[in-house]
Amino acid sequence: MEIINRATRMVSVARDLRADGKIIGLVPTMGALHEGHLALMSQAREMCDTVIASVFVNPTQFAAHEDLAHYPRDLARDAELAFTRNVDYIFAPTPDDVYPNGYKTYINVETISERLEGAARPGHFRGVATVVNKLFNIVHPHFAFFGRKDAQQVILIKRMVKDLVMDVEIVVGPTVREEDGLALSSRNVYLSTDERKAATVLRRALEKCRSLYHGGERDSGRLLNAMRAIIEAEPLARLDYLAITDTTNLEAVTTVPYVSPTLVSMAVFFGKTRLIDNIVLNGEI
Ligand code: AMP
Repeated sequence: MEIINRATRMVSVARDLRADGKIIGLVPTMGALHEGHLALMSQAREMCDTVIASVFVNPTQFAAHEDLAHYPRDLARDAELAFTRNVDYIFAPTPDDVYPNGYKTYINVETISERLEGAARPGHFRGVATVVNKLFNIVHPHFAFFGRKDAQQVILIKRMVKDLVMDVEIVVGPTVREEDGLALSSRNVYLSTDERKAATVLRRALEKCRSLYHGGERDSGRLLNAMRAIIEAEPLARLDYLAITDTTNLEAVTTVPYVSPTLVSMAVFFGKTRLIDNIVLNGEI
């Protein structure tokens, strides 16, 4: 495994691999790797000849008040973990290499980037779309792997790829969870012991929604109320948003349709730590 820090070198390595006929898989991450990331790397390993994992805490997707400075960073540990999944290259550029002085170009995926996470975190998806676009330009992968845990990110990137006719196939991996249902996240380390226990409330609320849905409930208002009641019963949890939407434009739906996939998503604060989770009813994203 080789660690590459410079975009120019990554471009030439990836170009040579492609010229050799290798199928290239890219797994973009912000590091602080956990089983959610590693499962994507294993999936890439199965599907591709060469696996490239990027580790880059992308400053443009953080708002000024967010946790950019504190975001956990440990490249040596990340490299050890990636090595266990037979990753071939880690691409870990510096912020200056990705956004050199005078940098001016950003990607905006309209509407999708303004809703849900985008409404709560203005500018976030502009940063995500821009960095993913750059990573695709640098690596030019055949396949790129993303987790369903960040469902809106998947929907946004698929839209960008389609709209801009980008030559890459997006592969979506399932959400990896702790035994008690909490979705793995690099931000879980911020939780106190009590907050960690309380954090199962996201999963509990989503499972309630799923079971009501399977019991025949289709009314979004009633599904939302049932989930809200579970979250409000947890004193350490503070709901940021909770929504039932379509998976194309993330438009709220009043009735869960029978035929098309429907995203149930939420963000919940525990102290300063903000966690997200989702399920998709009636199909896949
Ligand atoms: P991040 O480092 O948080 O930007 O995440 C990098 C990639 O890992 C994204 O595609 C995420 O959706 C994915 N990911 C993060 N957590 C999980 C999880 N618990 N299960 C599956 N994929 C995940």
